[in-house]
Amino acid sequence: MEDGVTMGGELFIRKGREASLLRRHPWVFSGSVDHVSGDPQPGDTVDIRDSEGTWLARGAYSPLSQIRARIWTWREAEPVDRDFFRRRLADCLAYRRRLSMDDCSNAWRLVHGEADGLPGCVVDKYGPYFVCQFSTVGAERWKQDMAACLMELEGTRGVYERSDGDSRQREGLEPSCGVLAGEEIPERFEVQEHGLRLWADLKRGHKTGYYLDQRDNRALLWDCGGLEVLNCFSYSGGFGIRAALGGAAHVVQLDASADALELAKANVSLNSLPDSMFDYVRDDVFHWLRQCRDSRRSFDVIVLDPPKFADTQRQLEKACRGYKDINLLAAKLLRPGGRLLTFSCSGAMTPELFAKVVGEAFQDAGRLARVMGVLSQAPDHPLAVNFPEGHYLTGLDLAIREDSF
Ligand code: SAH
Repeated sequence: MEDGVTMGGELFIRKGREASLLRRHPWVFSGSVDHVSGDPQPGDTVDIRDSEGTWLARGAYSPLSQIRARIWTWREAEPVDRDFFRRRLADCLAYRRRLSMDDCSNAWRLVHGEADGLPGCVVDKYGPYFVCQFSTVGAERWKQDMAACLMELEGTRGVYERSDGDSRQREGLEPSCGVLAGEEIPERFEVQEHGLRLWADLKRGHKTGYYLDQRDNRALLWDCGGLEVLNCFSYSGGFGIRAALGGAAHVVQLDASADALELAKANVSLNSLPDSMFDYVRDDVFHWLRQCRDSRRSFDVIVLDPPKFADTQRQLEKACRGYKDINLLAAKLLRPGGRLLTFSCSGAMTPELFAKVVGEAFQDAGRLARVMGVLSQAPDHPLAVNFPEGHYLTGLDLAIREDSF
């Protein structure tokens, strides 16, 4: 064994179950495990071997999760140590430089988990601050090392942990939030993306404070001259404010959360937009859209960016009904020549299935539309060829036709 390798033991794959690892899929499910030797503890690094003993990969052991191990490296000679994380972060940074992320925004994702070769790790950069989420025992084990490596990057002031998502429970981990290294981060950070300014609530806001993944989709609303816009599930108001900057005549920000609407109001003044351009509605989207339908209210542009309706494959059927409902209602409320930006961020929902559900909604509404764009997560949240599960955000940009049936 090489120096510096943190070895907790060995995990042997059942005969004939190594195919996904050979395709470089980074998860080992419990059903593929034959046996484990050497008494590894949660988060320990284990060597993964096939039934003949041939080395396949090295990963983090997670005995409580159905995903029993997540792969750190496919190279036998590569130890998992602080230097490993330093190299991985440098590679993530090089990719974001290639995307010219700094030209798009002062806030972007540096690490997107498995797709970046760092399972369980999310690192978002807000100017000189990094906000991280560690969702697995393997990521938890190395978080101090990652924070130390982030501090080495030029200009870093502080690294903060926001590991408060539900997924940690499945790994037997408690939520964990606070400064990991360097300075305390500010409560609010001013994100600037494609000319839009928005407050991100780094400590209490959703995700790491803001929906960075929708950056390029918000920018699609650059040209809304004179239009009436309805932004459903508005959170901090991004899509609506972008539309207002793009010349919209009026914007309704609709969300069930009073805190979200407060944030949206603060963001309107940050962009020096007149408050009279906006209405803020605190209601359930399903309920409010039905009311609009009954009172025959209509809009030129509608954005539907709901929270995850399905966490798992099993919840998908119910989720599809939810997506169909809101899309059907939106299709009815849109004026001829209007536009619908509609999304799903449920990992289990494929782009094909989403397009089918939206198609059925339009059929039931008696409306026709052209697909102007098939939408996805911004490229700093990369899709990886060996990890289809990482493609969680899908959307459609639809132009409503004049004729209906
Ligand atoms: N579009 C936003 C992100 C939306 S997050 C952006 O670009 O930043 C989802 C939002 O939906 C949250 O703010 C949440 O409060 C809201 N929400 C969830 N369920 C809802 C419901 N049934 N009706 C209205 N709002 C809801």
